[in-house]
Amino acid sequence: MLHGLSRLLPEIEEQGLDEAAVYRREALYERPRFEQGRGRLTPARGALLCPVCGRSATRFLPFGLGGRPNARCPDCGSLERHRFLWTFLAERTPLLRRRLSILHTAPEPCLEPALRARHGRRYVTLDRFNPKADVRADLTDLPFPDGRFDLVLSSHVLEHVPDDRAALSEIARVLKPSGIAVLLFPFDPKGITREDPAVDTPAKRLAAYGHPYHYRIYGTDTPQRMFEAGLEATLVASADVLSAHRRRRRRINRNHLFLARPRSTAAEHGDGPGERSRGH
Ligand SMILES: [Zn+2]
Repeated sequence: MLHGLSRLLPEIEEQGLDEAAVYRREALYERPRFEQGRGRLTPARGALLCPVCGRSATRFLPFGLGGRPNARCPDCGSLERHRFLWTFLAERTPLLRRRLSILHTAPEPCLEPALRARHGRRYVTLDRFNPKADVRADLTDLPFPDGRFDLVLSSHVLEHVPDDRAALSEIARVLKPSGIAVLLFPFDPKGITREDPAVDTPAKRLAAYGHPYHYRIYGTDTPQRMFEAGLEATLVASADVLSAHRRRRRRINRNHLFLARPRSTAAEHGDGPGERSRGH
């Protein structure tokens, strides 16, 4: 996506394209179709494995600015972060063990069919722009009652939201007390969150954050930010979930996600993240 949007920057600026128009041009909502004969699938032993679609491949397709090798599954189109997210969901959450009420924001075409098939009408997709989403709404103003969902999935969405604190509060509100949110976004484990109100045009954002519609790069203060919005969050690195061997086979990089739960009423009397460790 980044490759495409960098190329589009002159048009974005000259024609004043908004974010929705840009995403329509890039056909981001479609499941990718690959050229015949590329990335031929074989069940060879020791080959690459895509946990999302369950297929083995002798190689994955290149993707991104520099043509990152072995990045994209030739069958379902998953990238490294999707394969990490799916592995985490499958192995560390009840996603595959019982039916859950799920809110999936800006649903990825490689994940949506499997989730919908498994969870049926309990599975709800939400997007600001995509006409095929079940619900068209903004993450900062969700049209759902309190405590509606067991699981909120939001991958590479929050960095697009100017008022992400409002979005995090809404996620906390619509989660059941026992619910979890799995949140992914550009994350720098070595510094604090970078955002600046002066970075206010697509060109400036591309230069500062690597994308014309990203408003920040999250950093190590993210759990505090989530805590203030009503979520208690834990950072999970891909190395916490998968051995080096499994990461290599699935072509998963150093990815990160946050596992967040609504703060209990008791935790509201605490001073910061980690107050709720007792009894949980
Ligand atoms: Zn796949």
